[in-house]
Amino acid sequence: MSPTDRRQELATNLGAVRERIARAVEDAGRDDEVGLVVVTKYFPESDVRLLADLGVTDVGENRHQEASAKAAACADLGLRWHFVGGLQSNKASAVASYADVVESVDRVKLVGPLDRGAAERDPESERVLEVLVQVSLDPPDAAGRAGAEPAEVPALAEAVAAAPHLRLGGVMAVAPLGADPGPAFARLADVAAALRASHPDARTISAGMSGDLEAAISHGATHVRVGSAVLGMRPRIK
Ligand SMILES: *Cc1c(COP(=O)(O)O)cnc(C)c1O
Repeated sequence: MSPTDRRQELATNLGAVRERIARAVEDAGRDDEVGLVVVTKYFPESDVRLLADLGVTDVGENRHQEASAKAAACADLGLRWHFVGGLQSNKASAVASYADVVESVDRVKLVGPLDRGAAERDPESERVLEVLVQVSLDPPDAAGRAGAEPAEVPALAEAVAAAPHLRLGGVMAVAPLGADPGPAFARLADVAAALRASHPDARTISAGMSGDLEAAISHGATHVRVGSAVLGMRPRIK
């Protein structure tokens, strides 16, 4: 596909997603704005450039190596980089060197390395790294689930809030596979409300993807993370 055709395709998809978001906000009777993070994992730098040109300000990635390379290659675009993938504690400080928001913090063990990485990346500036606590919406015995149990959230939030170079932004979650996302996003809204009671500035609720952004917005999502509805089907994982 030529760059012009790809630009047109992305523009059309992006317009449709923005329309869905606007309609969901209206249907929910909300008058605030919902932020869009376009998840560009598996797609090339050229797509990130086209998206930036089409007005996208926030992009998400879920694998450290790919994210790190793309963020470096696209440093001139002024985008905000969201890390949304599983985090190993030995990679956490490296992720902090390019990410603006780390959305997938699900255990206290990650806080120290993230705080160190955030402190090292830009010693001159006062820039802090925004962190979201990833909350599990799966049954406690589900295989391969990511995220902290709701009961673990307060302690994890305290640890993030106490780290000098991190800012607690709120919560993030992925709806359980193959289940109605509504009840899960409702539980997330309760977790987020409890968090705000002790951390009033932690207002972000990052929830909703290509298939369920309407349900997330109806349950108060402040940000949606959309990949395939904008970029198309992801290439097969090698
Ligand atoms: C890939 C991914 C998304 C985007 O998923 P789509 O269904 O392609 O919109 C959102 N959040 C996370 C954490 C992801 O890994």
